[in-house]
Amino acid sequence: MSYLAQQQQGQDKEELKPKLDADPAGVCLSGGDWLPNGNASGWGEFISLTPERSEKYYQYNLQLSDTVGAFRKVPKTRHASCDTHNYSLPPFLEARVSVVISFHNEARSMLLRTIVSLLSRTPADYLHEIVLVDDASQDKTLLEELRAWLGTLGRPRFIFLTNKQRQGLISSRNMGAALASGDYILFLDSHCEVNDGWLEPLLERVSHRPNLAVSPVLDPIDPVTLRYQKGNEMLRGGFDWSLHFHWHKRELTNQELPETPYSSPVFAGGVLLMSREWFLKLGSFNANLKIWGGESIELAIKLWLCGGQIEIVPCSRIGHIFRRHHAFDFPLQYPEHPMEQELSPAQATYLHNSKIIAESWLDEYKSMFYALKPAARRIPLNHTSHQLQQLRRESRCHRFHWYLRHVSPELSSMLYEFAATGTLRNEDRCLHHAGVKNSRQQLILVSCYHDDITQWSLFRSTGQLSTQREFCLSVEVPLEVTLKPCLRTNDTASMSQRWHRMGTSLVHNQTHLCLDNPLKGRLELTACRWHAVSQSFQFALEMERQT
Ligand code: UDP
Ligand code: MN
Repeated sequence: MSYLAQQQQGQDKEELKPKLDADPAGVCLSGGDWLPNGNASGWGEFISLTPERSEKYYQYNLQLSDTVGAFRKVPKTRHASCDTHNYSLPPFLEARVSVVISFHNEARSMLLRTIVSLLSRTPADYLHEIVLVDDASQDKTLLEELRAWLGTLGRPRFIFLTNKQRQGLISSRNMGAALASGDYILFLDSHCEVNDGWLEPLLERVSHRPNLAVSPVLDPIDPVTLRYQKGNEMLRGGFDWSLHFHWHKRELTNQELPETPYSSPVFAGGVLLMSREWFLKLGSFNANLKIWGGESIELAIKLWLCGGQIEIVPCSRIGHIFRRHHAFDFPLQYPEHPMEQELSPAQATYLHNSKIIAESWLDEYKSMFYALKPAARRIPLNHTSHQLQQLRRESRCHRFHWYLRHVSPELSSMLYEFAATGTLRNEDRCLHHAGVKNSRQQLILVSCYHDDITQWSLFRSTGQLSTQREFCLSVEVPLEVTLKPCLRTNDTASMSQRWHRMGTSLVHNQTHLCLDNPLKGRLELTACRWHAVSQSFQFALEMERQT
């Protein structure tokens, strides 16, 4: 029974009946029952103090969030067999869970719904405490008001922490974890709704395997309609060589059902549960990482390499608002550095964090990262990594090739599938996909030093030359070089998308003509001329020797 349900036992059942509101996001319950004084006006008063802000500020529908209420029913998204499974749970005194939520400028209604969903749908015996870290939000009275109400509940314990200065998600989570005292820690975002029965399937998995970390399947909540949708349990988390997160297709093995827990190279986003002791032993989130970005990839790599595993558990579901853009600013990283002219603070922060991951864990494979992210070479790092070296030594962590071999065949196959990869340079310019204009994909040559410059991959087996967004360099009648969605190789039209290398030239298979840039900035196909500079296209990383 959840904590709130326990609290409310003995009260008049009629009073506890949820009130149904008509609401575009679906049937929802009024928040009144869960609020200070037990009435709906408590909710209204509480959220009315959200600083007036545009939706751009939050990157979701604030008005709707305010009207949805503190608690609503959410659709059952997990497989039916999850409801009938008899979970073998550890004794609750050995599996006390601390939930750590760090937030920066979250709307009151959203944060409260996250907390209320936890209180309502978590077995009280296991929910030891909730640690709320306010990372210097603009709403200065929010935490105090929450303390005045939640602090009096008795159980679970609440810990409140306010950063006077913005610390970022990574160190805020670490500070929260340092204050926690449960056996397990769950890291959660401040715009989530846990679904019924979310905790039991996770605890069942970790209880006998202390080095296992688990993620639920994240159910997307639409930022505009707040509709709670079913997340996909057929995906594994991963990353590419530029250290960007990617989903990979999950293949079912013989006996496996879609709802069976499955191993994953990386967590499902930033929501994860693991033993607190194990998290601290791994050195927490790498404290040299700044603000936001890369922290769960870093934790995943070190966890696997130092003797742990990661699983995604489809019977556990947590709703999360996936926003299209960051809802927060990144502080300037290098105010005096020329870097700042080229990269936005968000890009510079992500690149800085990625460089730390590459330097800490990728060993000799870090050259792949630098080939794809040449700007990272110029990012200054001002710290030492003694702690990590000690961890690697003491925990006898594997080297990165072990991860390639045993954990992420996807990452490893990227090494072998490509004949060449990275930026594609012709003289001093690089080939770039600049989005859509007049319903055509724009293919241009620009300075190679922009951070978001297109990364290309030439596939060994198919000859396709593809962007990371799966657009392929194609040739249309009459000999026009274009960018089209990559076609399957059993489609005969895909012949127009096949290329091969001759020296540094790119030869189109069908026409035997070479990619050429005869007038600066215009791509054409012309007769191949040996050593013609305008036909010389070099990838950042060539896997095959050029003759
Ligand atoms: N966050 C924070 N400090 C920051 C940036 C983010 O505490 O400087 C919080 C944010 O409020 C959210 C969590 O960190 O609860 C993850 O951020 P976000 O949801 O923007 O990341 P995403 O889910 O898009 O990966
Ligand atoms: Mn989030």
